[in-house]
Amino acid sequence: MDAQARIKQIQERQTPFYYYDMELLRRTLQQAGEAAGRYGYRIHYAVKANYDPRVVEAVREAGMGMDCVSGNEVRMAIESGFSAADVVFAGVGKSDREIEYSLQQGIFAFNCESLHELQVIHQIASRMGKKARVALRINPDVDPKTHRHISTGKADNKFGISYTEVDQAIATLSELSSLEIVGLHFHIGSQIRDLQVFEQLCTRVNTIKTWFAQQGVVLRHLNMGGGLGINYDDPQAELIPDFARYFEIFHQHLAVEEGQTVHFELGRSLVAQCGELITRVLYNKTTALGGKIVIVDTGMTDLIRPALYGAKHKIENLTSTEGSETYTIGGPVCESSDIFAREIELPVTSRGDLLTMRSAGAYGAAMASRYNMRDLPGAVYSDQL
Ligand SMILES: *Cc1c(COP(=O)(O)O)cnc(C)c1O
Repeated sequence: MDAQARIKQIQERQTPFYYYDMELLRRTLQQAGEAAGRYGYRIHYAVKANYDPRVVEAVREAGMGMDCVSGNEVRMAIESGFSAADVVFAGVGKSDREIEYSLQQGIFAFNCESLHELQVIHQIASRMGKKARVALRINPDVDPKTHRHISTGKADNKFGISYTEVDQAIATLSELSSLEIVGLHFHIGSQIRDLQVFEQLCTRVNTIKTWFAQQGVVLRHLNMGGGLGINYDDPQAELIPDFARYFEIFHQHLAVEEGQTVHFELGRSLVAQCGELITRVLYNKTTALGGKIVIVDTGMTDLIRPALYGAKHKIENLTSTEGSETYTIGGPVCESSDIFAREIELPVTSRGDLLTMRSAGAYGAAMASRYNMRDLPGAVYSDQL
């Protein structure tokens, strides 16, 4: 369908809604799968980025596993047809119920984030007469050079077992007979655009895994997490991230032993660019200082990233091309942080125009809320227009 026909279709829908380009999603998944497959790497999709059922179905069709961070995500993965053997479960605060359910299902591994959690999983597993497969999530103290709210692998973050505690972790493990340690897990942050960071991660992991081997711990799996960033400034220039380069870095810098498998947990890089948030302009107004404000019918309840992390989504006017003005784009929610962009250039924009916020397929719909009792945003798929 050409762009004009698509806009015509979109114009008839009730806004706001997420629009998913299913063809782009499939191509992205395929390229990621191929690039990982070159080295025998396995991808688990970090489903917290977007749990839309059509997105999840495309991921399953692409043959990837799932990376879950709650019991409900584990349940959804299994109910959507993923094999429990392809599900990993991470998170600093797994509840007893979530652990029990995941043990019953026989998931591939728990990514454990503290010594205390190891003890609790051991207790629950032994009560159930099960053996829990665990990977130790080690905080490697690598600076991902990203926003501090999405940085997870520095020494002072709440995530992972601190490298000063690994000694104790190993000592503890020998007493926790209901645990089977299957590997190590790392995830240092999100929206990482400087690929050298992954090189540093590999170097750090090589040291840590050698140390484990010296202690006699056999590591069958290395899970390197996710975090590959995408181009928010100019999505059209990079609709599909450079997965080939990303995996090549690990191939070049990560020392993998015979029989060891390497896993990844990609979220954003797989689904961000296929999604956009479509909204309609409600009002134009001018501040006392002369600033022009455009109020749209979508708000931080539909896409919270700008309010939460100061994230910038590229905004385009789909229905006007005339002239140029400087606008601040705000939503209807009663919060001053409900602003999508400040002082951006757009064609002359007025009531009824359709705007799109690009690169919204990851951490968009999945983070939507009903604050102000607003409706949750809908979803429209390119192959259903
Ligand atoms: C969020 C998360 C991911 C995915 O991160 P992206 O930046 O979206 O690729 C991977 N692993 C864990 C443990 C996570 O919490």
